[in-house]
Amino acid sequence: METPENEKFRDSIGTIDKSGKRSWVFPKKPSGIFYKYRSYVSYFLLIILLSAPFIKINGNQFLLFNVLERKFNIFGFPFWPQDFHLLVVSLIIGVVFIILFTVVFGRIFCGWICPQTIFLEMVFRKIEYWIDGDRGKQIRLSKQPWNAEKIRKRVLKWIIFFIISFVIANVFLAYLIGGDTLISYITGDPLDNVSTLISLTIFTCVFYFIFAWFREQVCIIACPYGRLQGVLLDNKTINVAYDYVRGEGEKGRAKFRKNEDRAEVGKGDCIDCKQCVVVCPTNIDIRNGTQLECVNCTACIDECDHMMESVGLPKGLIRYASEDSIAKKIPFKLNARIKGYSAVLLILIGILIGMLFLRNDVEATILRLPGQLYQHKDNNIISNVYTFKVINKTTKDINDVSYKLLSHKGTIKLVSNHDFIVPKQGLAEGTLFIELNASALKGDKDKLEIGVYSGDKLIETTITNFLGPRSYK
Ligand code: SF4
Ligand code: SF4
Repeated sequence: METPENEKFRDSIGTIDKSGKRSWVFPKKPSGIFYKYRSYVSYFLLIILLSAPFIKINGNQFLLFNVLERKFNIFGFPFWPQDFHLLVVSLIIGVVFIILFTVVFGRIFCGWICPQTIFLEMVFRKIEYWIDGDRGKQIRLSKQPWNAEKIRKRVLKWIIFFIISFVIANVFLAYLIGGDTLISYITGDPLDNVSTLISLTIFTCVFYFIFAWFREQVCIIACPYGRLQGVLLDNKTINVAYDYVRGEGEKGRAKFRKNEDRAEVGKGDCIDCKQCVVVCPTNIDIRNGTQLECVNCTACIDECDHMMESVGLPKGLIRYASEDSIAKKIPFKLNARIKGYSAVLLILIGILIGMLFLRNDVEATILRLPGQLYQHKDNNIISNVYTFKVINKTTKDINDVSYKLLSHKGTIKLVSNHDFIVPKQGLAEGTLFIELNASALKGDKDKLEIGVYSGDKLIETTITNFLGPRSYK
């Protein structure tokens, strides 16, 4: 079946030409109220993004994703592998939140919050405008031969891009290995940490590749979030949209003519200036409707508003609007889907808060040594051997740690033979023996409750099994 004429734009991507080659986008420099506010939001988020690995709350890094050592801090709240369930619930909440948000506000996240858009549009692109000039100058520069001006501008741009990519790679690494560790590596001998240096070089090259060359292709080809649009957006979703009812009128869009009453002759308000297209960083025509490539950057809203203002027509021909509000003039309403997602979100947040309150600062496990049976000693004493682990999630050392049996009479003997310290944000492990008089056993496998003490203070209790002879069952 042949594609209808007005749907042909869907058969191609604006950034790939007919021969299948990359078609470089030279977007016009945006300006306007949305761009201004987006810049403010971006600068604020950039400050947070770049400083988060170096901010501490209660001694904990604000955000840390140390996958190798399995340590995670979210908003200064440390998560250990033992808190994995909390991390999973947080991730589920994150996914539900994104779905709910996308259902209501479309890809507003892409335009205002996504680090890829922020770095590309607010850092790298701005440097490009500063060095190469606006769209027209950039096109001219790309076409001109490699003369002194082009070499100077290109080399300057590439060096600055590389330095910024290096900074981003360092910050990215700080999220992975910790801000303090990174600083100690930077101030130390780089050859002492060759593997980190290699990782840093790889990250720098990846960021350079993304921001200097791959650019909008990340959003169009690589980003899974963009793909979700098809299932999440509906006619009630608010998106950056062209008001085709107003723009096309009865006789369609048409060039502007001075002193012409467009409404009277049936022409729409779109003056077909194509400024919304030349300003678009993904090179699409928003007048074709919502498209996968649109990152809701709002540049076309600002540009169209400029044009409307200059020809004396009302602004807002391109604006944040839902399909229903354009086609049927239906105002935004909370529908069943939004209510359903909100309810699920609230329940999940409630579960997460409950779990956080129930979470202990100290976790202790005592497990029987695998493959070991009990030992029968003199005076009817039965002995089991265990490995123990105590995790300290706080930012202070826990001193004089010892164990006491709470449920049975008996003794606990540490192999080290003395109380121990559990370092802050660390763990202590070792081996211990539990000895009980056989008469104290209720069966061949008793459950023991054991208290973990710091000095005289009970800080945690744990349960373990104790094996005894079958005849005592
Ligand atoms: S269509 Fe408009 S909002 Fe979408 S990416 Fe292009 S300029 Fe940005
Ligand atoms: S900027 Fe506005 S008036 Fe110009 S082509 Fe785009 S929608 Fe039409």
